[in-house]
Amino acid sequence: NKIAIAIDGPAGAGKSTISKLIAEKMGIEYIDTGAMYRAITLKLLNRGVDIKDIQSVKDIVDETKVELINGRVYLDGVDVSEEIRMPYVSSKVSDVAAISCVRERLVYLQREMAKKSSVIMDGRDIGTNVLKDAQVKIFLTASVEERAKRRFVEMKNKGIDISFEEICNDIRNRDTIDSNREINPLRKAEDAILVDTTGKTIQEVVDEIISIIRE
Ligand code: C5P
Repeated sequence: NKIAIAIDGPAGAGKSTISKLIAEKMGIEYIDTGAMYRAITLKLLNRGVDIKDIQSVKDIVDETKVELINGRVYLDGVDVSEEIRMPYVSSKVSDVAAISCVRERLVYLQREMAKKSSVIMDGRDIGTNVLKDAQVKIFLTASVEERAKRRFVEMKNKGIDISFEEICNDIRNRDTIDSNREINPLRKAEDAILVDTTGKTIQEVVDEIISIIRE
C-alpha cells in the first residue's frame, strides 16, 4: 500500500530540506509543490501575462506541462530549477497561487503523482486539501528571524544577490497572502502535528519526524 506524508508550513521553515532527506531515508518520492507554483509563475512572467486577466491565465495553465524528475523541475520540458528560485519569481508566486484555475490544475497533478507512488509532499495545503487522507501530517514552523536567516544563507550559497531585509519582506509578504487567500489558505490541519524547528539542527528535525512517522 502507498504511503503519503504531508508537510505544510510557512516560507523558509525547512520543509524542502527536511522532506528531501526523509524521502531518501524512506525510499519514497519527494514532491515539492511550491516548485510547481513557481514554474507556472515563471511562465506567466515570461509571457508578460496580466494575472488579473483570468482567461489568459487559464489558457496558459491548461497548455503547460510541469514535471518533477530526479529533484529537477521541468516547465514544458525545459529545466527551470534555478530560475524558479529567483527573487522576481518569489515576489509574484503567492499572487499566482491565489488564482483558482491555477490551484485546480496543480492540485489535480499533485494527486495524480500521489496515486503512482508513495510520497512525501510539501506545500501549504497538502494536509488540509491535496492529501487529506495522508497517514502522517506535519506542520513545520520556525520564527520569522530564523526562517529569514536560513533563506539568506541558502541564497548566498546559490550566488543570488538579495539582502536580508528583502528576504524578511518576501517571507512576511508571502505568509500574509498565503494565509489570507480564499482558496485553501495556509493552515495547520487539525490532525497535523506541529513541529517548531527554531534552534534545532536539520538532523534533529529529521529524527523527530521519522520517529513521528514510525509511531
Ligand atoms: O514552497 P515554496 O516557498 O517554494 O512555495 C512558493 C509559493 O507557492 C508559496 O509562497 C505559496 O504562495 C505557493 N504554494 C501554495 N500551495 C502549495 C505550495 C506552494 O500556494 N501547496
